[in-house]
Amino acid sequence: MSEHILASAIGKVQDALASKPPRTQGAGTARGAPPPLGAGLTEGDIVALLEAGPGEQRTLFALADEVRRGFMGDAVHLRGIIEFSSYCVRNCLYCGLRRDNRRLVRYRMSIDEILAVAARATAAGYRTIVLQSGDDLHYRAEDIARMVEGIKQAADVAVTLSVGERSRQEYAIMRRAGADRFLLKHETADPGLYSRLHPGMTLEDRLECLAHLRGLGFQVGSGNIVGLPGQTARTLAKDIMLLRSLDVEMAGIGPFIPHPDTPLASHPPGDLSMSLRTLAVARLVLPLAHLPATTALATLHPDGRRMGLECGANVVMPNVTPLEFRRLYEIYPGSIALAAPDDGGLAQIHALLSGLGRQVSHTCGHSPKPAWAAGHSAASVGRRGLPPETARGGGRGGHEGGCKWQIG
Ligand code: SAH
Repeated sequence: MSEHILASAIGKVQDALASKPPRTQGAGTARGAPPPLGAGLTEGDIVALLEAGPGEQRTLFALADEVRRGFMGDAVHLRGIIEFSSYCVRNCLYCGLRRDNRRLVRYRMSIDEILAVAARATAAGYRTIVLQSGDDLHYRAEDIARMVEGIKQAADVAVTLSVGERSRQEYAIMRRAGADRFLLKHETADPGLYSRLHPGMTLEDRLECLAHLRGLGFQVGSGNIVGLPGQTARTLAKDIMLLRSLDVEMAGIGPFIPHPDTPLASHPPGDLSMSLRTLAVARLVLPLAHLPATTALATLHPDGRRMGLECGANVVMPNVTPLEFRRLYEIYPGSIALAAPDDGGLAQIHALLSGLGRQVSHTCGHSPKPAWAAGHSAASVGRRGLPPETARGGGRGGHEGGCKWQIG
């Protein structure tokens, strides 16, 4: 890849930053119109940035950090994740939860257990609860709705669902119950690779699910794995371009980690530098998206969480699943989540953040995108048919501690 394209891509980002300083006034609060920043980068630019050598990589990371600070602030949002079932009907080649992995001991948590864990997490200060599972059809949409309602009745928190592919009607039931966000990673934007890795599934169906979620007014999260077999920098560029065209509110981007009881057992893990560059470029292209320093990144390298936070990430997703279940939710082995205490490791995270001069956000950390503030996007099909602000209950003010969406 020519150095000229790389220099020009870096120049474009620097020019965009110089022409519209995106400084925020308060932690987690973005100000001003949507930036032209991400839109200016072509697929060629993105490939060049992804292939940056060590010298330019430092510049890339510094730019991503500057964009993160400018658009999203220094506050880091913690999302407490509850992995409530390890049953899965899918057979994804990379995932330890795949249906054909007979070695895995499976579990399901009851709704009461889930609500008790969520209550502990919210008492510990979490303002977002993420409910994640394998694609487990044992739980009907109405069951998931009961989880959401129970959590939201008990505390002023946001709920994110990550329960895989369902019909539009099922998603609508979950949304009506008050679920704020939905995370469904596209995994890879290469349709052929997608089909090979996900037997019986298509990228087209995945994108249709994402379109339903968008239409129902969820804050939508997607994302991809870095280091899949057959993936190139161009594939990763397409991942980032897809995230841009989906206009996601959040994106989970983390390295592949091989699981011994899957067909990809002997495939090497994703490369640390490429994972960080993909995250950094995603920050440049999606300045207003919530981007986690993923657990996979922290599992790949002991300093992975800090590195992620220093090249674009503004979210951490600590695991609050009871340990007896957590060790069974084995997407990949050796997760750092296994070493964390019940509360997900808050003390360690606070220490890490204070070392970086950053703080834990006390808000729900909704999307700062203006479209959500105005209530005139697809989000206007909000909870119980009301625009998002109204649906949120209102009256709490847009300050830290309230749950109103953080808009500049
Ligand atoms: N059933 C849900 C949740 C899947 S697990 C769904 O389909 O959305 C959550 C994420 O773990 C997946 O989206 C995938 O990106 C990631 N994952 C699974 N196996 C992995 C592996 N071996 N290495 C890295 N990430 C993995």
